[in-house]
Amino acid sequence: MTNLNEQMVALGTQRSVIRELFEFGKIRAAEIGAENVFDFSIGNPSVPAPAKVNETAARILSEMDPVLLHGYTSAQGDAGVRALIADSVNRRFHTSYQETNFYMTVGAAAALCCCFHGLCNAGDKVVLFAPYFPEYTVFAKGAGAQPVIVPADTEAFQIDFAAFEQALSPAVKAVVVNSPNNPSGVVYAAETIQKLACLLEAKSKEYGHPIYLISDEPYREIVFSGTKVPFLPDYYKNTLVCYSWSKSLSLPGERMGYVLVPPAVEDSAQVYAAIAGAGRSLGYVNAPSLFQRVCAACADETSDISIYETNKNLLLKSLREIGYHVVEPGGTFYMFPRSLEQDDEAFAQRAKARNLLIVPGCGFGCPGHVRISYCVPTERIERSLPAFEALAKEYR
Ligand code: PLP
Repeated sequence: MTNLNEQMVALGTQRSVIRELFEFGKIRAAEIGAENVFDFSIGNPSVPAPAKVNETAARILSEMDPVLLHGYTSAQGDAGVRALIADSVNRRFHTSYQETNFYMTVGAAAALCCCFHGLCNAGDKVVLFAPYFPEYTVFAKGAGAQPVIVPADTEAFQIDFAAFEQALSPAVKAVVVNSPNNPSGVVYAAETIQKLACLLEAKSKEYGHPIYLISDEPYREIVFSGTKVPFLPDYYKNTLVCYSWSKSLSLPGERMGYVLVPPAVEDSAQVYAAIAGAGRSLGYVNAPSLFQRVCAACADETSDISIYETNKNLLLKSLREIGYHVVEPGGTFYMFPRSLEQDDEAFAQRAKARNLLIVPGCGFGCPGHVRISYCVPTERIERSLPAFEALAKEYR
């Protein structure tokens, strides 16, 4: 009998609820026609990357020395690439970072893993605010850390500070913030971040070690009506930023992101070394060379994200008219209405029976809600409204 790591076997065997629904949607579409399936399961950007992405890739492929292009870059990413990214960040956030503050990664997923592995010793705790991206628990546990969940503030999806204080202890090494948020779509207000920063300062002092704030922000640019997303290093010095071009440039398959370790972070060089060491120990060195260069050249660009706002407005208005309770998203392409019964899995099952594929909130640490991914053609939303109406009628 092979003696494998059972935890890994389990992770590799169980498909996520989101993936299950997505696969179900494809099967159902073959049975009854794609136009009759309302798949809101997965967060795959539905708009193409800007033309500049392909143009830049084509230019690099035709102009650059292929030995250099297809060769290894530095483990932490090409220095010229990191300098261009630093320039872009500095222009937009009035900072003065250098290439030495950036570590290129295979998407935000690898950026987060590098942070958890680099910062945490076995048994350290990582605080997550519900609702949260489910993979955080997998990434944190993979680094030997223990996730501590702060229950959601279901009125506004900001932070329940009383619950947060209870979750803090000397064993807490890091706190993860994801704003704009998957799955609620909510953007944390500047006041929320300010309060968070004050509390973390006080607790770091009390415990005699820094509590790191990890800002996971793949949706930073996807915001509506000029919503401002606070730049967390401006509020709290021990902030590490995990960024990705998966959503803003519609490049999830190209797997490109970075960790930013600002110089203001206590022992910044040591923290950067820990991130680099984590990348090394995980085998994550040298993010793909071509797309490092493409993303650096396109760092100031975003896809045309206007459809997400159109979809948000249509869905929010329609769901509220039907009688659903929804907190208005400030960004992303998700919304997180209350399920019409407390058991969100039962509710999502009933939705599924109407070919409405929405994801139960319990997987995001927030039961009683469901996630709708509206990165879909607007006409899918229009066609789905009778199904949302019929579903609501079952509860009247
Ligand atoms: N963080 C959040 C909140 C996400 O929603 C996702 C992907 O959906 C990720 C991280 C992972 O992003 P990436 O594709 O860049 O690894």
